[in-house]
Amino acid sequence: MARAFDERAPLPGGDTLHEACGVVGIYAPGFDVARLAYFGLYALQHRGQESAGIAVSDGASIVCHREMGLLSSIFDEEILARLQGYIAVGHTRYSTTGSSVVVNAQPLLERAAFGDVALAHNGNLTNTDELRDSLLPETTLQATSDSEVLAKAIVQAPGADIVARIRDVMTRAAGAYSIVMSTTDALYAFRDPWGVRPLCYGRNPGGGYVFASESCALATVGAKYIREIEPGEIMWVDGDGLHYDKIAQPKPQALCMFEYIYFARPDSVLNDRSIYMARLEMGRRLAREHPVAADVVMAVPDSAIPGGIGFAQESGLPYIEGLIKNRYIGRTFISPDQRMRNRSVELKFNPVMENLRGQRVVVVDDSIVRGTTTPRIVKLLRDSGATEVHVRITSPPIVHPCYLGVDMATYEELIAANMTIPEICEAIGADSLGYLSKEGLLAAVARKRGEMCLGCLTGEYPETYNGPAVVASGARG
Ligand code: SF4
Repeated sequence: MARAFDERAPLPGGDTLHEACGVVGIYAPGFDVARLAYFGLYALQHRGQESAGIAVSDGASIVCHREMGLLSSIFDEEILARLQGYIAVGHTRYSTTGSSVVVNAQPLLERAAFGDVALAHNGNLTNTDELRDSLLPETTLQATSDSEVLAKAIVQAPGADIVARIRDVMTRAAGAYSIVMSTTDALYAFRDPWGVRPLCYGRNPGGGYVFASESCALATVGAKYIREIEPGEIMWVDGDGLHYDKIAQPKPQALCMFEYIYFARPDSVLNDRSIYMARLEMGRRLAREHPVAADVVMAVPDSAIPGGIGFAQESGLPYIEGLIKNRYIGRTFISPDQRMRNRSVELKFNPVMENLRGQRVVVVDDSIVRGTTTPRIVKLLRDSGATEVHVRITSPPIVHPCYLGVDMATYEELIAANMTIPEICEAIGADSLGYLSKEGLLAAVARKRGEMCLGCLTGEYPETYNGPAVVASGARG
């Protein structure tokens, strides 16, 4: 049986999905690239809040600063002033418990015989052990992450130049990797052949290029979005301009569906589809699939808000704010005592009682993973005067684990893998429960089955998946 009411859930929220990282890469002679990377990472802070770092090359060597914590607590003017150069690589990281240590923070810096290399990785390899076994016997690993194995493999790979080394490792690495990497005089960006995690690039007005996990980071630094890096593509920028190459065998596309549902910022664009508009459409379709007699519609802030608005538009019900999010709690590093753990939802959200009292409420959320948070939200709404609470979810039930970097690795932890929908409805204390269908979801994101990874919804994983025993071998990048 799923741990539906796990009091050990971390604060805040406990039941949100976590993915690995955000990356940025900047090649812009004449610009303060460390500052650009800092603000680019700021736009990607939602992808990881445990550690962050920036590495900068001045053409002769690479200097790197990385620490645990949020960007705002890591960097100040003095640190940025030390990061002088014209190429920057930046990273913000989420990690699983136990690997949240500074040695796993990125960018990773390799002092190779041919020069310095800085690497930032978003994703999760599924054959880390195999790659590790291919490293030279004298190799010393400082960190416990798959990212370090990947960085060492590139440095040690055969090849006349860096692109040849990257190509070699891309033919051997399995799993998800969207990477920005710099040498002292060039910036590289490449993406696994399945395209599980996003990576895009744009032009820096005034000269140079910016690469980032999401287009919102390009917009923040004033870069003009050009396109996604294609799955299996290698791009690089040096003194001769922008170059690109592709590894020989492209694979079936497998962008993570949860980028559209939850991970990406609503102001980002993925594969020419606005995340905001995709979520709005998920809400509209959810209203058509699961209509209910109610008085008001609300969303669990922030990621479900477009879905909630879409549901309200389609159903003709008024959209209200039922919960106000405490935006500054962030990811706390202060351990809560048991009493505070039991109040994790109240720490994160305050109800607007005037909007809820006496109302039949539809509450839209983007997912139920372990089922730890939803019952608390339902109770909070009832305690605030809602007469009925109808839960609507803009994703289909998550019934299988993720082996590609999202922190839901076992069947035991997934409530929908262990209960029927009526049982979940009862467990969360709702009057009714409805999930968006897989067909509705695909229509909302304007993609076909076979163009996305839907592994945790269908059990059909992209061919890159090598099995949980391999995944369990290291921290996520
Ligand atoms: S299994 Fe689910 S969470 Fe993992 S990459 Fe695929 S769609 Fe995303």
